[in-house]
Amino acid sequence: MKKFLNALQQVDRVDFDQLLELDLGGDTVDKAEIRGNVRKVDQEIILEFEGDALQNATCDRCLEPCQCEIHIDYCEQLDQETMGMSLAEIARQEFVLERPGQIICSEDCLGLCIQCGANLNTEGCTCDKPVDPRLEKLLTLI
Ligand SMILES: [Zn+2]
Ligand SMILES: [Zn+2]
Repeated sequence: MKKFLNALQQVDRVDFDQLLELDLGGDTVDKAEIRGNVRKVDQEIILEFEGDALQNATCDRCLEPCQCEIHIDYCEQLDQETMGMSLAEIARQEFVLERPGQIICSEDCLGLCIQCGANLNTEGCTCDKPVDPRLEKLLTLI
């Protein structure tokens, strides 16, 4: 944040709009954009921004590569620690925090067949669907 802190000696507010390449813990470097400002309020310095990142990930259901959108809203007073960090590093940590626990390629991803491993989104399969043993009893009565 050093560059911004220096600038704030002259002005009360610095706006930024940056494209970043961040390592969000996936296999590749991910692109992100952040927009916001650093400003002086009384004796404090406030950092506020929102950001969007597109992480290259793997679908947890079908294991195909997919992209995961992550949005962050950040507004904090700078402290000793964050003053020593780069803006990109602060943003990276926020994106990692906001990353969803489960990543799926689409809401209606069918995933893989638990028996043959076929990707049910693209190929389907002919496996008999597993039947609950309690249901099986009932079915013999019909
Ligand atoms: Zn999927
Ligand atoms: Zn199958």
